[in-house]
Amino acid sequence: MTKQKCVFFGSDIFRNSLYGDNHPLNIARVWPAIDICTAEGWLEAADYQEIAPASIERLSKFHSADYVAALWQAQTDQTLPDELKDKFQIGRASNPIFKEVYSRPATAANASYLGAKYLAEGRADIVYNPSGGTHHGMRGFANGFCFVNDPAIALETLSHHTCDAISYIDIDAHHCDGVQTWHADNQQIQIISLHQAGLWPRTGQEGDKGGGNAHNFLLQEDAGDYELLSLMEQRVMPLIEAHQPSFIILQAGADGHRDDPQSRLNYTLQGYWRAASHVLGLSKPTMVLGGGGYNPYITAKAWAGLWALITNRDPYDLGLSDASVQLLTRLSWHHRLGRNPQESWFTQLGDIV
Ligand SMILES: [Zn+2]
Repeated sequence: MTKQKCVFFGSDIFRNSLYGDNHPLNIARVWPAIDICTAEGWLEAADYQEIAPASIERLSKFHSADYVAALWQAQTDQTLPDELKDKFQIGRASNPIFKEVYSRPATAANASYLGAKYLAEGRADIVYNPSGGTHHGMRGFANGFCFVNDPAIALETLSHHTCDAISYIDIDAHHCDGVQTWHADNQQIQIISLHQAGLWPRTGQEGDKGGGNAHNFLLQEDAGDYELLSLMEQRVMPLIEAHQPSFIILQAGADGHRDDPQSRLNYTLQGYWRAASHVLGLSKPTMVLGGGGYNPYITAKAWAGLWALITNRDPYDLGLSDASVQLLTRLSWHHRLGRNPQESWFTQLGDIV
């Protein structure tokens, strides 16, 4: 068997850019995942791609041009007139104006756009963009911490390239309302979401088929690895196999973890990786994205372990080097759960089960 070509997309912008005080995303997630992979020797320089932000022109091919212009204006002026804030939900609700409010999401979007091109052109078998997975973004407004919708952009890019079937699987704790809305009329794309019942945005109810191409599965509060993996094995995998996709996108939000403050799901890291490995096991050209994840220790390890899995390493048996332990120890988290972090969060890769 020839070695799969796997590409990790990242950017230094994620080292410096934060969402602002008191926002749940005001935590380090992407760069610790990259640095753990490097420290552990899992990430070779040849497999890493530094990505620049998508231009206004490129982003406007997918999002409404007036929205993209407003996002750029919000970055340059660091404010917006009230009517534009209301219209585009920038600087409103959970979508704050911060220093790189255009450049940071535009980088994640560009990575998913380029990742889709890599897959479509056969330049990679698996592309990994942990900065992506912003599945709530709408074409014409920001929504739920998401200024762009990079999974929708990746799906649209693949859909323009091929008439073959495409499957999108989303294991984030929240429903992928933006992706479902964006692609409601494209039957080429199958949209499968597993999410917590009753959680914001409260769309994606059981039986909600979107435009006919969506499959929504609800997990009740406290659902753990057993419930997640039973759903994956009994419902999700047969659906994917029936759709016969030539390309797969996996949104691997880690906010269903038992130590994540934004959901009441109860997965372990091991369960999360097993769910992802079911999809990777199909051995199709696949894009793997991040998404939610609001405990910085857990999210960094979830996404580092995902890259281990992608590159055929076994995260279940892997430990952490001193360098990674020190890196995790130095992370800070102002959430009340972060005041007394559990020792296992920074001393081992997987969870104590
Ligand atoms: Zn989420």
